[in-house]
Amino acid sequence: MRFTSKLPDVGTTIFTVMSRRAVEENALNIGQGFPDYAIDPRLGESLVAVVGEGRNQYAPMEGTIELREQISDKLFTCYQRRFDPHSEITVTCGATEALYDAIQAVVGPGDEAIIFDPAYDAYEPAVRLAGARCLRIALKPPSFKFDWDEVRRALSPRTRLIIINSPQNPSCSVATREDLDALAACIRDRPITVIADEVYEHVLFDGRRHQSVLMHPELRERSYAVFSFGKTLHATGWRTGYCVAPPELTRELRKVHQFNTFSIVSPLQYAIARYLSAHPDAWQGLAAFFEAKRDLLAGLLRGSGLEPLPAAGTYFQLVDYGSISQEDDMQFADRLIREAKVAVIPLSPFYARPPRMTLVRLCIAKRDETLRTAAERLRAFAKGASQL
Ligand code: PMP
Ligand code: GLN
Repeated sequence: MRFTSKLPDVGTTIFTVMSRRAVEENALNIGQGFPDYAIDPRLGESLVAVVGEGRNQYAPMEGTIELREQISDKLFTCYQRRFDPHSEITVTCGATEALYDAIQAVVGPGDEAIIFDPAYDAYEPAVRLAGARCLRIALKPPSFKFDWDEVRRALSPRTRLIIINSPQNPSCSVATREDLDALAACIRDRPITVIADEVYEHVLFDGRRHQSVLMHPELRERSYAVFSFGKTLHATGWRTGYCVAPPELTRELRKVHQFNTFSIVSPLQYAIARYLSAHPDAWQGLAAFFEAKRDLLAGLLRGSGLEPLPAAGTYFQLVDYGSISQEDDMQFADRLIREAKVAVIPLSPFYARPPRMTLVRLCIAKRDETLRTAAERLRAFAKGASQL
């Protein structure tokens, strides 16, 4: 019997591939986005406490009420609006599950979704598994801005979904209020829902402010907004995210969520809720924390031949290696792992049709010491490469 793949052209995600290669080559891993420093010990203590108290059985399908109330308070602080924990907030297994559930809830066979390249790799496979197809529109380098004229031209009677991501992984660009207005104009009078991937909501630099769809009166009525405690609490392995959407959209999302994961690890939810209620400002310093790391790494690399691009947000930094090599980015990244012993993420896997570019992505969510060692190795490599 022949088995027919539903995703014949999809391989293992580039993050897993590069993290595996980093282990094989004993390289410093500044590729996949995860911190290499400890979480706040008080968060760990909360987890130990709730497990000891016996919070070890199924959580409610939509998330524990304690956590949803904390999320509602946090949203109020950030976006000056009350969202109902009962009908508008759902706790999911990371942002990844929220994205998957929302996509399944919105699109089906024959439908079209618009996504923006370079696109986070989880969007398109989920759209295709729902039987729909993606139209991919490139953000224009070097600033990676939206081209709303192109979006308008791409709209068709089959368009049901537009996915935006701001701050954007991997381009490090951020959407402006004008971008949100342009998006609202695109979907006005059309049966289109928005998914806003806002996992880096707190990581914007140089005084920029995050423009959430939740602050936009038109967009919040038509959007799933997706967030992650993995980013906000430096705990990517806790796999705890959430989705905020109006009641009608939340109902549809939960129909998928209840048969996907049903509910999320309950002690983690209780632990995060307890921690946030004791330290409601735990996430407040994130922008300054990461801005210092961006400045450290970019400062160490400037002039090395691995030129940092301007980064407006996220915990990534793009560098251009065009002055030292014209290899494609997969080959270049592999050579960096083998020769410089530094793992980074090439950009081409984020594109449907990769343009000719010489960019790789570095993760700045690392100890200063890790960033210094990585920069030293990269500078030495670039010096060697430019003398060839
Ligand atoms: N969206 C973007 C843009 C991301 O960068 C990530 C992961 N870093 C996710 C979604 C997934 O988040 P989570 O780990 O919470 O599933
Ligand atoms: N979002 C992380 C990144 O961009 C990776 C998450 C994952 O590996 N699934 O590096």
